[in-house]
Amino acid sequence: MTGRVEDKIVIVTGGASNPGLGNATARMLAREGAKVVVTDLDLEGAEQCAQDIVSNGGTALALHQDVTDEHRWEEVVSETVVAFGRVDVLVNNAGIAILKPFPELTLDDFNRQVTVNLTSVFLGCRYAMKQFRLQGDGGVLINLSSVAALKGMSRCGAYAAAKGGVRAMSRAITMDGAPDNIRCNTIFPGVIWTNMQAEAIGGDSIGSRIPTSRVPLGRAGEPDDIAATVLYLASDEANYVTGAEFTIDAGMTA
Ligand code: NAD
Repeated sequence: MTGRVEDKIVIVTGGASNPGLGNATARMLAREGAKVVVTDLDLEGAEQCAQDIVSNGGTALALHQDVTDEHRWEEVVSETVVAFGRVDVLVNNAGIAILKPFPELTLDDFNRQVTVNLTSVFLGCRYAMKQFRLQGDGGVLINLSSVAALKGMSRCGAYAAAKGGVRAMSRAITMDGAPDNIRCNTIFPGVIWTNMQAEAIGGDSIGSRIPTSRVPLGRAGEPDDIAATVLYLASDEANYVTGAEFTIDAGMTA
């Protein structure tokens, strides 16, 4: 039986954190036949993810990467090509959340937030697109934004600015990529239980209840809820989907 992304070569950034969206995405794509390059600042965590994939019969490679480092982006793309021959999909997932009441956000906080969550996506899309153009048969960019880009949320001034930038830039990339069959789509997760979310809102498990006034379905999502959308967008089922925005938030922004 073939998988939904059989033999596609996928780079997932920020794949170390477990539970985390990149980690779950790497595992799900590998289960569906992709060869996955898992990158992260935390090499040990990325290696653990890649090892688990390989132990389960999949194909994966872990690479150390700081997504804010332009030179490293060039290397990650070329190391992927050396290992697997090409790049088909880039998932720009790595990120941080600097959450403070607005007046307490410093310029350093703001600049750091934008560099890690927005400049990194610019760099990743740029180097992946160059590679897609060399290959000549298209490619897929999947960018992680946030509901914070769609709705006012307290303590999210810098985070929302970066994620709003990801949204706007992804629409522009859609236009520049389309003539080369390069698809670019954006995902807006709501409250998904990961290490980042645990730190942001506290709580102790994926089952933690959150007020239904904030989340109509009344619960936090699981990383696989986001991974499933990445899987769809990475697959040929989404061949006619570009410039689209997927809000996976249990109704938060409805
Ligand atoms: P997480 O903190 O669990 O995982 C993020 C990963 O990114 C970590 O492994 C971390 O080491 C890595 N990372 C951070 N800075 C990096 C850098 N400079 N270079 C390389 N790797 C780096 O977070 P998560 O909840 O899995 O979030 C993943 C993405 O989804 C982020 O972009 C986040 O903003 C977005 N998001 C998450 C939620 C949620 O509810 N969890 C909601 C909306 C958006």
